[in-house]
Amino acid sequence: GEGLPRPAQTRIMVVANQKGGVGKTTTTVNLAASLALHGGRVLVVDLDPQGNASTALGVDHHAEVPSIYDVLVESKPLSEVVQPVPDVEGLFCAPATIDLAGAEIELVSLVARESRLQRAIEAYEQPLDYILIDCPPSLGLLTVNALVAGAEVLIPIQCEYYALEGLGQLLRNVELVKGHLNPKLHVSTIILTMYDGRTRLASQVAEEVRGHFGKEVLRTNIPRSVRISEAPSYGQTVLTYDPGSSGSLSYLEAAREIALRDPHVEQAQQAQQLQA
Ligand code: ADP
Ligand code: MG
Repeated sequence: GEGLPRPAQTRIMVVANQKGGVGKTTTTVNLAASLALHGGRVLVVDLDPQGNASTALGVDHHAEVPSIYDVLVESKPLSEVVQPVPDVEGLFCAPATIDLAGAEIELVSLVARESRLQRAIEAYEQPLDYILIDCPPSLGLLTVNALVAGAEVLIPIQCEYYALEGLGQLLRNVELVKGHLNPKLHVSTIILTMYDGRTRLASQVAEEVRGHFGKEVLRTNIPRSVRISEAPSYGQTVLTYDPGSSGSLSYLEAAREIALRDPHVEQAQQAQQLQA
């Protein structure tokens, strides 16, 4: 995968939805791998104490490994915890260990508790095209740190009953953080996951989501696929586990759409069109 535009500035995308099991982690790791395979330099920040993104990327995250907990709570530089992801050039991960389970409480009494991740990312000097932050299934201080650090919110929506339920709360939090802490924050991308094109329900949910959000919804839906769900147990993304599978191709295509929607590129193109 060559030939995709690289963003003018690092794009920081917060993968959030306070519902568990909607495909946040799966989308984070597979999109990140796809963007790296398209030629980008990509960092995954694992902000879920479960450490599922670290596991899926095959990155060491047992209790003694320097992790995002040390960055958030102990002010350790991000560069001291970032690990290269085996087998995918240009892909890196800041892992989560079990320590992170306590961070939600420990952060409460720290100064600048909402902006500790933002500060760590700002101090990180390695060039990156994308940072994808995998959030826990809650709207607590870990997710708030992600929303303060990022500019774009990416919401995975599972094509099931009640798909839109609870989204109002996430959107209100996005508005709150935007209003008080991070004016550039916005929902840039909605991705439909576990899509089963054979069912009426899936297409009804997709239609409802498109009606509700419009142009933020990616044209590419991620199909329900056994290969996608098997890959993490091998410490791999579906991109290396089964490169030709429908899941792999759909994440590559979704990544392409995202790369082509670069807000900075769009601004530059609009400026050019105005000049012409
Ligand atoms: P979250 O991070 O939102 O809790 P996960 O990404 O962990 O959600 O996904 C929840 C479960 O669904 C996992 O077991 C994962 O392997 C599975 N899964 C996610 N996306 C797909 C898909 N497109 N097809 C099949 N299974 C999927
Ligand atoms: Mg997860």
